[in-house]
Amino acid sequence: MLTIGLTGGIASGKTTISNLFSSHGVPVIDTDILSRHLLDIDQPGYREVVQHFGNKILQSDRQINRRQLRVLVFSDKNQKKMLETLLHPMIFEETQHRIAQHSASYIIVVIPLLFKTRFQSLVDRTLVVNCSESTQIERLISRDDIEIGLAREMIAQQWSNEERLSLADDIIDNDRNHDLETGVASQHKKYLSLSYPTTGIER
Ligand code: ATP
Repeated sequence: MLTIGLTGGIASGKTTISNLFSSHGVPVIDTDILSRHLLDIDQPGYREVVQHFGNKILQSDRQINRRQLRVLVFSDKNQKKMLETLLHPMIFEETQHRIAQHSASYIIVVIPLLFKTRFQSLVDRTLVVNCSESTQIERLISRDDIEIGLAREMIAQQWSNEERLSLADDIIDNDRNHDLETGVASQHKKYLSLSYPTTGIER
């Protein structure tokens, strides 16, 4: 089975694109979703995060206030690093476990920090979302209802699109005016043909 690591900047469209792959019947593992589950009450990530950040990060129903956590780590590099150190080993292990459960022609694994982490070792090819910073900012503000300053800061803390694109095996355009469905359909066809020699199914 071919494992494709899908990555891109914040609000570039990773989830939107992975949903389109799903609609072609391709299994998708989203490490963002795994990390959210790890923060559910009494999950291992929950315990670690509350221990480190304290009760101030909790809502009245004891759930972690994810929005507050996100803002907190994006405004403090050390806290961001700490959160990653706490959660990445757990997410890595869970991702590895879930990949092993699949036997499709190929699988999409959404990994926001793919190139910065050992998650690269889990994938055969990388698919990078190409989207301009101005579009990212626009989508981030409208989706998360945040100030433009914070949106800019979030993007500035990440790798530039150029850096990511320079390491990509494949690129999918998701700026304004791009036909995303056609882009996904064309990658889908390519991945099926690349996986065909090893599996010979689902053509
Ligand atoms: P994050 O980095 O926060 O996980 P993401 O990369 O998964 O985000 P999405 O959530 O898929 O990005 O997209 C960000 C926002 O932009 C969403 O509100 C989504 O609906 C919108 N969006 C993504 N792609 C398109 C598109 N081609 N046309 C219009 N809106 C889009």
